[in-house]
Amino acid sequence: MSNPPKQQQRSRMVAAEDDPWISVSLLAEHTFCPRAGVIQHESQEEDTGEEQFHSGRGRVRTYYALEEIQKALSMWRKRTLWAVGALFGSVVFYGLGAILVRLSLGSSPSQRPPYAAQLSACSSTCCCLVPVSLLLSVICGFLWLNVYLSHYRPAVRAIASIPDPNHTSSQPVNWWALLNAGFESRRLSEALRYPRWRLVGCPWRILVKGDLRIPVFRKRPSRGTTGERLYQQHYARMAAYCHLLEVCEGAESPYSIIMYGHSHNGITVPNQPGTRKTFHDSLLATRKTISALGRVDPPSPHHLNKCSACPHSWRDRDTGQSVCGERFTWRPPNIRDEWDR
Ligand code: SF4
Repeated sequence: MSNPPKQQQRSRMVAAEDDPWISVSLLAEHTFCPRAGVIQHESQEEDTGEEQFHSGRGRVRTYYALEEIQKALSMWRKRTLWAVGALFGSVVFYGLGAILVRLSLGSSPSQRPPYAAQLSACSSTCCCLVPVSLLLSVICGFLWLNVYLSHYRPAVRAIASIPDPNHTSSQPVNWWALLNAGFESRRLSEALRYPRWRLVGCPWRILVKGDLRIPVFRKRPSRGTTGERLYQQHYARMAAYCHLLEVCEGAESPYSIIMYGHSHNGITVPNQPGTRKTFHDSLLATRKTISALGRVDPPSPHHLNKCSACPHSWRDRDTGQSVCGERFTWRPPNIRDEWDR
């Protein structure tokens, strides 16, 4: 008797004992390009739930927890108070010092107290401290106000909203709106592992509310609307996280969330049959590529324009070599080639 289709699908996913463990970041890179997957595998970087490779460091700090904002506010409040205290102290000491100096200088040299010179120096120092502490007070106060207006106020004022768990098309979300709606943001101390499929992954955060476990991934910061486009690798990755949460925590993960770079805006990715199929196919293909490593390397992509924007094709200024070029002994096209012509 033939197996029902669901059972057949499950059986094709089960890993053999000698199959390699596949991390979700490897799976995603391999979905983008098998060679990128090999580079990711050989770098042995663990999945962090962020597009670390591309993310860089934003100059402006982005907060994702109200406690962090409150900590920053408290820090700047303390610093402002210290600076105002120093300003007040230096004004008082300068004033007192100036009066005493004037009084002592008014008397004849023989009657001047021996500490008159030190008093004069002390008063001059306090005089110099007045503008310095005034400047510090203004800077610290301004930074406190900036954290309050740019981070704290938008966070507490965001209108609570929860995406419909049964939605089938992506919905825009706001991080603070989700937290204000009662989602708790958690970070995993260890990656999720599913030995049956030899799959391991660690979302950037997990949003928890009741039985819901919503994995969150942070996409690289990009300018313009093109930076918000999702590709196959994103769908495969998000379905993999949902699957891990469902099997490891017995939770419901009807959708996942992708946050855009250093912002509080993101989009939901419904965990649907089509997305899951992309994930399953990608996992099998990745497993096959990694199992065959050492005997056969994956070929270059059919469309080389994929390489142009790929970070693995970036060339070293001195050697002219790229990571992908060195690993696979070829010269992938890079977007800079156009500019250098
Ligand atoms: S440079 Fe091209 S072949 Fe190499 S990893 Fe990137 S996309 Fe793949």
